[in-house]
Amino acid sequence: MIRIGRFTIDCVEEIVLREPKELYADWDESAVDPIADWFVGPYYDPESGTFATSIHSWLVRDGERTIVIDTGGGNGKPRPASGRFDGLNQPYLEELAGKGVHAEDVTHVLLTHLHVDHVGWNTRRQGDAWVPTFTNARHVMTEVERDWRDPERGAAGKPEGPTMPFVDSVKPILDDDSVDVDLVKGDEQEFLPGISFMQVPGHAPGMMAIQVQDGGEEALFIADVMHQPIQIYNPDWSSRYCEDKQVATETRKRVLEHAAETGCLILPAHFGGTHCGYVRKDGAGYAYEASKIMP
Ligand SMILES: [Zn+2]
Repeated sequence: MIRIGRFTIDCVEEIVLREPKELYADWDESAVDPIADWFVGPYYDPESGTFATSIHSWLVRDGERTIVIDTGGGNGKPRPASGRFDGLNQPYLEELAGKGVHAEDVTHVLLTHLHVDHVGWNTRRQGDAWVPTFTNARHVMTEVERDWRDPERGAAGKPEGPTMPFVDSVKPILDDDSVDVDLVKGDEQEFLPGISFMQVPGHAPGMMAIQVQDGGEEALFIADVMHQPIQIYNPDWSSRYCEDKQVATETRKRVLEHAAETGCLILPAHFGGTHCGYVRKDGAGYAYEASKIMP
């Protein structure tokens, strides 16, 4: 657990995948050399040429609210277009319970964007239906993401992959009258006390970061602005999953500048190691300092 003022932050890990280095079209093995002492092992295995990609939710509590940021891949979802998430069976809810939280305790689900690995636990299977997992939670997503993925709102012409998670993991939330949904712009200040949103488009058009501030401290949940800390050293590298690589790069540079200027804790969605850390200015570029505390 990490503390930011009155907030506590925990990582609820669903699964750790091995991601081939083809994640980056610009991959250059020699970029590993200057950071090999900490990057090789927890983040990258040169022998197999794969990264550790953690799929997790962030759990943020302030004594009043119990907030889950992103909801992983989910169990039992058919994912022919993204095999690593096809028919998962992971003890995610047990992990959450291990942190003292049951699904019905969650007051808010904040979805940074609506990719397959960020919405799965929104729903679980009940008979033939997908029903809300977090039955008492307000679900928050950007309007841009909703419109981009919804087959009935213009996403129909897109490949099957991006829309399937929408159909079984987002639409049931939108359609269920007993579930409260907030469609936001992604730049709201103090959406909740101490919690603001920041637009971080590129990887996904409506992606937002979540900013948690109290007592002069800041935690910034940067979603998929970066997948691996090697991008802090190579901000021009976008992943193959970034939908608009040029915008993703501009956003990444803006977030790096913010993190280095403020000294905030950054909490990406997929870093291995201790999953979060700090960005430091280093010459003309930046360096990563992993948090010593595992949240
Ligand atoms: Zn992701």
